[in-house]
Amino acid sequence: MIPKIKKIKVIETAPAGINFLIVKIETTEAGLYGLGCATFAYRTATIKHLIETYLSPLLIGRDVDRISDLWQLMHQNAYWRSGPIENNAISGIDMALWDIKGKMASMPLYQLLGGKMRDAVPVYRHADGNNIEELISEIEGFKSIGLQYIRCQMGIYGGTEYGTAGKHSPVNPSIGTYIDSREYIRNTLDMFDKLRSHFGDSIEFVHDVHERINPIDARQFCHEMDKYHLFFLEDVVSPENVAWLREIHNFCTTPLSHGELYVNPNEWQDAVINRSVDYLRAHLSDIGGITPAIKMAAFAAPFGVRTCWHCPPDMSPVAASAVINIDLAIPNFGLQEWSAIKSYKFLQQGSGAIDNDEQASDAIYEVFSGMPEYGNDGYVYANEKPGLGIDIDEKAAAKYSCKHPVTVWTQTRNPDGSLQTP
Ligand code: MG
Repeated sequence: MIPKIKKIKVIETAPAGINFLIVKIETTEAGLYGLGCATFAYRTATIKHLIETYLSPLLIGRDVDRISDLWQLMHQNAYWRSGPIENNAISGIDMALWDIKGKMASMPLYQLLGGKMRDAVPVYRHADGNNIEELISEIEGFKSIGLQYIRCQMGIYGGTEYGTAGKHSPVNPSIGTYIDSREYIRNTLDMFDKLRSHFGDSIEFVHDVHERINPIDARQFCHEMDKYHLFFLEDVVSPENVAWLREIHNFCTTPLSHGELYVNPNEWQDAVINRSVDYLRAHLSDIGGITPAIKMAAFAAPFGVRTCWHCPPDMSPVAASAVINIDLAIPNFGLQEWSAIKSYKFLQQGSGAIDNDEQASDAIYEVFSGMPEYGNDGYVYANEKPGLGIDIDEKAAAKYSCKHPVTVWTQTRNPDGSLQTP
């Protein structure tokens, strides 16, 4: 007898001061349950409501083994489809069902996807400094624990602190975090000049533009970055400007990664077919979970396009385990972002997050067990437990309640006060 979905619990918890939304599906088989990540950190209350009010009544009583069918059922149930709210809710259910399937088979997720294509997952970590000395010291620290790939940023993503106007703002500027596209470009070129002369070729560098420059400046910027031989340059344009990637790619040799904001295959399929993107950076819960992620990877593989799934601190350990399992099993894996090296330091301002890395890290380990572990050699290793291998202590989770302040770090502005994508 195939177990059925008996109960869907939605657990809000913020052990590091960042809102996580975890879905727990209980089944008609005693002790059999699965966990999924529905974390859209800045809209968790809405997604919780969607799952409890609309998805739960749709799914209770259905067989747990029909993941593809249930994914499509959820996707088309509201008639209007796609978008981060719907996709994150679906992702919570989808991941939990894969977790259950793995437990039923007594196999980790990567085994269900065909088994290991690599022994471990090479990762990159985010280094950030307020000046070049701070940045170099942070990179040295990561290098000393075996990291070969490091993303280098100056002053978070190059903007002012929220509430501080830019150098060239007019009088009475609108409140926000200010970014000057042209100045950012000059500072970034200068930063990599210094980093290459300090480190030579001993590290693979990555950089994230975070779609904070104008597309019309991006072509020249990427061309000038070629001499620093980056492993890849991330999100030089927003998903709305994805067509620019082809133009930029024709003009530079720097590999481009793109897409932590993708919500719909129509946003990236042409870029893959045209080979104007090299690494797909999708955020698993934002595209709807494991099911669409493995389809995305399979679509990209014959075009030579690789993956580098988004894995920031505002994504739960449940999703982090899902990406590691997928990375192990797919042929066209490229590199993995990794935030959970003894810390889930939150990098964005105004979040109300705990600043102390160790304190945040301890709280996360108190709530979640079975996370994939960094091996102090540049690689992350999956645990070999069935499904996603993660568990949650619900009592501990309840200690760390979610807050819903107005999100401020996304209020990014150009020098003249006009809004810029964050
Ligand atoms: Mg990014």
